[in-house]
Amino acid sequence: MHQDDCVFCKIVKGELPCARVFETDDVLAFLDIAPVAPGHVLVIPKAHHRNLFDLPEAVGGRLFAALSPVGAAVMAATGAAGLNVQINNNAAAGQVVFHAHAHLIPRHEGDGLRLWSGRPYADAAAAQAMAEAVRAAVARGR
Ligand code: AMP
Ligand code: ZN
Repeated sequence: MHQDDCVFCKIVKGELPCARVFETDDVLAFLDIAPVAPGHVLVIPKAHHRNLFDLPEAVGGRLFAALSPVGAAVMAATGAAGLNVQINNNAAAGQVVFHAHAHLIPRHEGDGLRLWSGRPYADAAAAQAMAEAVRAAVARGR
């Protein structure tokens, strides 16, 4: 259930401190130690799973169920007008701690945070081809 070398497992076990804001039998939420904005919270399953792809459905469901109430509390406590929920999966996506977690990032009008910038597909055929590739992968189960 826990991994000895995992920083979030150590937090769950009480071997490392955290600023806890919410807890159930299965889920823990605490302040990110290096917040993108004050009130930036991490929500984790207490059990060790590497990331989104390794989360059993029930565990993911309980994690997801916590996002709305904890996110609403983060907004209320910070006076935020919005909230980003982000889950980084694998190093290429910026995952640094390999224990599944969701970031709750309170947002304010004009705060200047830019999470990503989008660009349209080259043309409709390129979008169609991409949609078909993803549909095929979904049909294969991956
Ligand atoms: P990610 O890039 O999605 O893996 O994010 C990992 C996050 O964990 C970063 O935002 C870190 O600031 C945060 N973090 C790492 N160690 C701790 C810790 N001991 N307590 C709280 N947050 C942490
Ligand atoms: Zn862990």
